[in-house]
Amino acid sequence: MSVALRMNDNGRSLLERAQAVIPGGMYGHQDTKLQWPGAPQFFDRGHGPYIWDSEGKRYIDLMCSYGPILHGHHHPAVEAAVMRQMQQADCQNGPAPVMIDLAERFVNVVEHADWAMFMKNGSDATTLALTIARAATKRKKILVAKGAYHGAAPWCTPNMHGIPEEERVHLAYYEYNNIESVEVAIAAADGDVAGIIVSPFRHDAGFDQELVDLRFARHLRTRCDALKALLILDDVRCGFRMAFGSSWEPIGVQPDLSAWSKAIANGYPLAALLGSDKCREAASRVFATGSFWFSAVPMVASMATLDLLASEGGVEQMHDSASAITRGMLDQANSMGLHVSVTGHPTMTYLTFRGENERYWTTKFAAECARLGLYIHPRHNWFVSTAITRELVSEILAITEKAFMAVKKAGAT
Ligand code: PMP
Repeated sequence: MSVALRMNDNGRSLLERAQAVIPGGMYGHQDTKLQWPGAPQFFDRGHGPYIWDSEGKRYIDLMCSYGPILHGHHHPAVEAAVMRQMQQADCQNGPAPVMIDLAERFVNVVEHADWAMFMKNGSDATTLALTIARAATKRKKILVAKGAYHGAAPWCTPNMHGIPEEERVHLAYYEYNNIESVEVAIAAADGDVAGIIVSPFRHDAGFDQELVDLRFARHLRTRCDALKALLILDDVRCGFRMAFGSSWEPIGVQPDLSAWSKAIANGYPLAALLGSDKCREAASRVFATGSFWFSAVPMVASMATLDLLASEGGVEQMHDSASAITRGMLDQANSMGLHVSVTGHPTMTYLTFRGENERYWTTKFAAECARLGLYIHPRHNWFVSTAITRELVSEILAITEKAFMAVKKAGAT
């Protein structure tokens, strides 16, 4: 059984053309070199829970564009709001009034938030959070979890190509869920801690995921209060999949700043930074802007996305369908004697085979799912959407069962 899937002439020709004019053929997290040989690189369309690649093959989508698609592709309510706004204007000399509606909406929905600012990408939001924390405290050091992803800005991008080390001299690192390491980092910062940035759970790509330990989350809150530093929650990936509010609301730990993007506008480009009154003044003083940060279309898309989530109980629905998928896959693997681990929050699950050839079998499993019409990722957490109905859960589990059987037959243990 080969990992590679066959491509048709169209797929091969797109890759060759991309190779000629795009550095490395593709870059970033959507580079299929991170998946399996023959993984579809280009996609033509999406509708509800389905996507079609450039060869016309249809998949049930469990990656949701790496998070942004919360209600399925091209949701009619979101698209209708977008079309209405597009007829009027998108990018103007000043924002449309919907910017205030949306800021009010976020302040109402997210408990810790007293104000909102909008930008384009998660990296914009996390980077601005650091700037505001430093402006508010007049200190420099930020504590960051080792190996955590907070974006592609020089202070946090995963590799150092083109990044001077000086970009990181004011960071101190701790281990996720390890209180002692936080204390060591605080001591190293020598009274100069501006803030601690943390993700709702440990979702580093390529590693088993780890839910947050309540004691750890509370410790960060207590230490930030004692130090008069700011607690920054990076909710870019998890926001609105774990809760209708910040992802630490269910555990009762409130950050001072939270960074959002991905799911907040069902695929339209928008990010948000939310903050409490503690840092409102600093937020109003830093210079923050971007040519497209004030565009109206993604903001109306976000209003529609939040309306849908509130009215349809989407968070609970995603939780139910995602839990059924993770439980079902574990039962299938166990009954076949396959050793897999399924970690993370169910709505953003991560499946790997265990043991020696972990990476090989995980990749084969993902390739086999793709061949059977289910799109997942072998090295990154998956994402569920509200478009995954009960019927689709059964279809998904029928595919994963066949995929487990295929890898078992090929020698997986
Ligand atoms: N923080 C987290 C937790 C993320 O998952 C991401 C994106 N994967 C980012 C920040 C950066 O977001 P963006 O890619 O939109 O800049």
